[in-house]
Amino acid sequence: MFPPFTLRYARFPDRLRAECLPTPVERPRLVAFNRPLAEELGFDLEAFDVERAAEALSGNAVPEGAEPVAMAYAGHQFGNFVPQLGDGRALLLGEVIDRMGRVRDLQLKGSGRTPFSRGGDGRAPLGPVLREYLVSEAMHALGVPTTRALAAVTSGERVFRHIPEPGAVLTRVAASHLRVGTFQYFAARRDTEALQLLADEAIERHYPHLAEREGGERYLGLLEAVVAAQAELVARWMGIGFIHGVMNTDNAAISGETIDYGPCAFMDAYDPRTVFSSIDERGRYAFVNQPTIAQWNLARFAETLLALIDDDTDRAIERATAAIEAFTERFEANRLGVMRAKLGLETAEEGDGELIEALLAAMHAGRADFTLAFRRLADALEGAEGEARLAELFADREALDAWLSRWRERLTRENADAAELARRLRATNPAVIPRNHRVEQAIVAAAEDDDFAPFEALLAAITRPFEEPHGEIDYMRPPHDDEKVLRTFCGT
Ligand code: AMP
Ligand code: MG
Ligand code: MG
Repeated sequence: MFPPFTLRYARFPDRLRAECLPTPVERPRLVAFNRPLAEELGFDLEAFDVERAAEALSGNAVPEGAEPVAMAYAGHQFGNFVPQLGDGRALLLGEVIDRMGRVRDLQLKGSGRTPFSRGGDGRAPLGPVLREYLVSEAMHALGVPTTRALAAVTSGERVFRHIPEPGAVLTRVAASHLRVGTFQYFAARRDTEALQLLADEAIERHYPHLAEREGGERYLGLLEAVVAAQAELVARWMGIGFIHGVMNTDNAAISGETIDYGPCAFMDAYDPRTVFSSIDERGRYAFVNQPTIAQWNLARFAETLLALIDDDTDRAIERATAAIEAFTERFEANRLGVMRAKLGLETAEEGDGELIEALLAAMHAGRADFTLAFRRLADALEGAEGEARLAELFADREALDAWLSRWRERLTRENADAAELARRLRATNPAVIPRNHRVEQAIVAAAEDDDFAPFEALLAAITRPFEEPHGEIDYMRPPHDDEKVLRTFCGT
């Protein structure tokens, strides 16, 4: 059933990873399987057998040709450096070459203890597994670079967090699992040879246009490319109200994909200071801080590359610093592009930035729902009723009315009629995001009642985020007060 594995990482020197077998689980049961993704990866679905898939995707039977390894990495967690983290509950089965010829990692998460587990049990509760499944697939459907979810298997075992919960294993697919923290692990050990190997791997897999470059230029190029990828990624997060929640350097992917869905969440009412994660007590990873933190993480990445960039440390620092400083402008340009599109603008004008900030200020003051406010901009172009649907989201209408007239005036220079503008807006501003309360409801039904129907219905809605669903459950609606989820947990 599995496509052939390439075992790139498994063939790397021992110190980059630890060979390790999954710990079998009692009663594996496949509860979610992503067929379109499996096809994309080259799985043979004609030979698909549910029982055998459950065995393989729980780690009970290592797929033929796979050689599982736990990857070594370090990381800054909430600003503090931890020299050894590593895959404490995940195993890389190997890489596969997908239908487009791209190398993709297949990883089991929750598959048991590894040499990097420290005090942990190596397991994952079902709730966080389903959360990662839902949110990563939603991100993909929204066009945001992300790791993907291939499968979820329940283990038939309990894992103990605050209370006993059903255990599960997630199969995650990534462009690679190279993290800023992977580089930090070897930089902390002054292992330049390993750093160069990792940097070359990152270039080959993610930035092949740099392969031609030689010496320090090659590694400076890598830094610049990762800066550009992260600047684009975080700009996209800011355009959909996504809050990652744990932007530690071990959760920053070199590929520029969103990785490690823990206490992540989408904002409902717009407030730039929003924080959900229960462990982020000081709001380090609040919505508005995400670009600054991404840049901070990139500076930690730059430090690991200095020796490869130039033998002369001063010169290496100077060049790396310039690359990191360029993040600010890159991010701003990306964000402006993202937000312009959200207003239906394809042309660029000097005052657009201000127009965007004015809408956000009105949304903040009026406690408007972030996703719906943008979604209903299209409605507002279609007559008084549509405008009323937008306005009802704002506690304070005055600021919105003033803004709407500015926006309408700006749209006259777009060279598009109302129908075309509405079409653009609806193709850019999603109707459905995985709202916290819906994710929570799906998790509770699955974990407490073994009922996966809410999970499946929600998954169907969020993987078609630009369509307005008409089913029984209103997936577009923000939570009522009694449904609001104010805190999210890592679930580690
Ligand atoms: P995270 O907060 O998900 O980025 O994880 C931080 C570190 O803790 C990583 O090294 C994980 O592998 C490790 N970890 C998280 N949960 C567990 C667990 N249940 N057992 C072992 N290690 C874990
Ligand atoms: Mg992590
Ligand atoms: Mg995690």
